[in-house]
Amino acid sequence: MIFNGNQLANSILQTLRVTSKIKPKLGICLVGDSPASKSYVNRKLKACQEINVDAELFNFSENVEQDQLIKHIQSMNHDGILVQLPLPLHLNKLDIIHSIPYEKDVDCLHMHNLQRILVYGELCEMLPCTPAAVLQILDYYDVNVIGKKVTVIGRSFLVGLPLSVLLQKRNATVTVCHRETLNLDQHIMNADIVISAAGHPKLVRNVKQGAIVIDVGISQGEQKGRIVGDVDFDVVKNQASLITPVPGGVGPMTVCMLMRNLCNIWKKKQGQPVYINPKLSDAYLND
Ligand code: NAD
Repeated sequence: MIFNGNQLANSILQTLRVTSKIKPKLGICLVGDSPASKSYVNRKLKACQEINVDAELFNFSENVEQDQLIKHIQSMNHDGILVQLPLPLHLNKLDIIHSIPYEKDVDCLHMHNLQRILVYGELCEMLPCTPAAVLQILDYYDVNVIGKKVTVIGRSFLVGLPLSVLLQKRNATVTVCHRETLNLDQHIMNADIVISAAGHPKLVRNVKQGAIVIDVGISQGEQKGRIVGDVDFDVVKNQASLITPVPGGVGPMTVCMLMRNLCNIWKKKQGQPVYINPKLSDAYLND
């Protein structure tokens, strides 16, 4: 089965549509003019329109000074704030993320939020967007990960690390692979579920028959302007019981989870019940 991320994302976005006169406002800071970053930001702006929330984009030059960017972030009065990553190397990514008040950290990357979620198992109404997207896809197909062997490729603070911890909290047996992992193919073949977030085309070439394969990776394909994932899709689709394509798989779901975080920040502020994925909250009942 091939997952359709646009379809599921659109149906979740419908449920997030804001109908009140006063609505949440997202502030996005974009540094430089990388076409990839601009395209991600445009998708976020479009999703804001779709759910009828306000968004404001602040463009900074590639050479913006760290202090100037931080001062700007601290002056923003938006309900949710995000800084589009990656940032130019002269900027300290962590200092910049931590200048966002944690209650407005819509990407859920501030150490306060990550610590609460990953170490203490709280705050499940706010999750880092890409890991949340992967869990949402598994939930959509009612995949029970308890006791399953899950191989996560990649250990970044943005995707692989939080995802591997969240899967452990759902009682999966997680193997985390990275650049220095030996016998990667063996870890892939051994897995019931393979989640690849490396940014390396054709890294996943074969999986166990019937495995579930979630492709988070995004790279430039050989053909100009074409993006590809980490998985050799044409081969692996014949082995997997469920596979996510690139594009049109995890990507749209990630934007959708960002919108859910924004709505939850807003709802919390208004004292309204937040959207919680019940399976995510169940996960925290364990240790
Ligand atoms: P990153 O560069 O910070 O981390 C990549 C991780 O993959 C590292 O832990 C590295 O050790 C591992 N890795 C790289 N090459 C490997 C190899 N050959 N074998 C095993 N492990 C390897 O990147 P990131 O921010 O975690 O993003 C990962 C990928 O996911 C990128 O392609 C990125 O564009 C994509 N991404 C997609 C979405 C989405 O919504 N679809 C969101 C975020 C990131």
